[in-house]
Amino acid sequence: MKLKLQNYVLGKWVEGRELGTALRDPVSGVTLAYAGSEGIDLRAALDYARREGNPALQAFSYVERGQMLEAAAEVLTANREKYYQIALENSGNTVVDAAIDVDGGIGTLKYYAALSKGLGDAHCLAESGMDRLGRDKAFQSNHILTPLKGVAVHINAFNFPSWGLWEKASVALLSGVPVFAKPATATSLLTHAMVQDIVAANILPPGSLSLLCGGGHTLMDHVQAGDSVLFTGSADTARGLRTHPQVIQSGARFNVEADSLNMALLGLDVAVDAPLFSAFIKEVVKEMTVKAGQKCTAVRRILVPANRVEAVAEALAARLAKVTVGDPREEGVRMGPLVTKAQQQAAWAGIDVLRREAEVVYGAERDFEPVGGSLDEGCFVQPTLLRCNNPSEAERVHDTEVFGPVATLLPYTTEAQIWELAARGGGSLAGSVFSNDDDFVARAMIRLSSSHGRLLVVDDAVMDSHTGHGIAMPQCVHGGPGRAGGGEELGGLRGLRFYHQRTAIQGNVARLNRLRQLAAEFTG
Ligand code: NAP
Repeated sequence: MKLKLQNYVLGKWVEGRELGTALRDPVSGVTLAYAGSEGIDLRAALDYARREGNPALQAFSYVERGQMLEAAAEVLTANREKYYQIALENSGNTVVDAAIDVDGGIGTLKYYAALSKGLGDAHCLAESGMDRLGRDKAFQSNHILTPLKGVAVHINAFNFPSWGLWEKASVALLSGVPVFAKPATATSLLTHAMVQDIVAANILPPGSLSLLCGGGHTLMDHVQAGDSVLFTGSADTARGLRTHPQVIQSGARFNVEADSLNMALLGLDVAVDAPLFSAFIKEVVKEMTVKAGQKCTAVRRILVPANRVEAVAEALAARLAKVTVGDPREEGVRMGPLVTKAQQQAAWAGIDVLRREAEVVYGAERDFEPVGGSLDEGCFVQPTLLRCNNPSEAERVHDTEVFGPVATLLPYTTEAQIWELAARGGGSLAGSVFSNDDDFVARAMIRLSSSHGRLLVVDDAVMDSHTGHGIAMPQCVHGGPGRAGGGEELGGLRGLRFYHQRTAIQGNVARLNRLRQLAAEFTG
């Protein structure tokens, strides 16, 4: 009998009534565990988090909650090797893939623990500065932020079972809001192991962290005013959840991180033999192959000058050919499988859609031979580069997100065409611009910002030191407009805003000043 994952609700570990969904090794197809939550009273579980977790957390100051995050990071660090092994078994991660997920989660906890020190012993936050409201100087206003009184429901996608959990939880917990985590079922083994270790370490007050490993598709029936829902996943699911009648009626806050047709742009000034050209090629290949392209921020559209498209195609294809795909347990394997058979089928179907408008430059073979794995049992997809020769006339290359190691070259001839093609993504999480041309970069930053949540500008000075196109750093806002969901997470202290109510307090300046002494200044 395989392991049946338990759910952590109402302050205890509880099994679902049925066997649940099988969690598999995407290399071999072997079943590792089952996850399900049938029979669990979700209304009672959320109530418990609101009733017990919320006041217990809010009895502590920001600094004290920051210390809890630090302690959680230490527990997770001590168990890193175990998590890497689970990431390999349940997600087919290479060591690099696992590091982004596991260490990225731990790093985010540590970052918010450090930030908390600047917030002092306060229990609420006050914005700096006051606004005069009338003739009497003594009567002014100040805005304060107090933590929400509900629970934060965190619904995550399958590709980041660790980082997805902690990038959301660290901000909510620091704010004083309990977390109800619902990872994607298929890869919930890692989230389960981490929560198990944190619960055993007894770091957080009862009710402040709950976990549902499988199911939970009726969670929205039970959200209330004061709750917040943060969803990461596909745009289709997001649409269904944010228009759920109870979400609308309750007025619960709702944040979406969804799909994105992120672009990388090579500037007209970058010659084929320039170091920046090589840096561009390296970054695009990294984006296509790290985590087998299963990153919401990964480059999907590659915008290059038309007179350099041959050189770019050749350089990318040569580099992709060196990426050994297979079982990450095998020596030399640099890219593993997708997480499930369903994702493999979806990627192949997506490539077929792109091929209606683009030709294959490299990959797209369904019968290639992964090293140490089989295509029948495993979920492998070959890195695939396509080229669309008439991107302004095309449609599917701008709206089809293949969630795998797949990207399309889009040649451009004028600057106006760059802005037009970039915007055709309908709103993206991340874009990158490779150029040393000051004027062009300035125009690009302004023209591209309204359709992007984050822009990475790479020039000769930072080409060896930047943190990467697809890496969401906790200092920077993560989220994007339009198709990307319109949400915002992280961004240092800015992220705390979502879990607080901002209230304008109007009154006597002297009183307002005393109030501000009780609250840390907030610049988020
Ligand atoms: P998904 O099918 O939309 O699922 C996302 C999450 O929603 C899973 O936890 C899923 O649970 C849950 N879910 C589905 N229906 C639900 C319901 N009725 N009520 C409550 N929860 C429900 O997406 P996915 O296939 O896991 O993820 C891939 C997609 O996510 C890609 O399109 C990618 O671009 C996007 N993504 C975006 C970001 C970002 O930060 N913007 C990050 C990663 C991924 P089950 O697993 O139990 O069905």
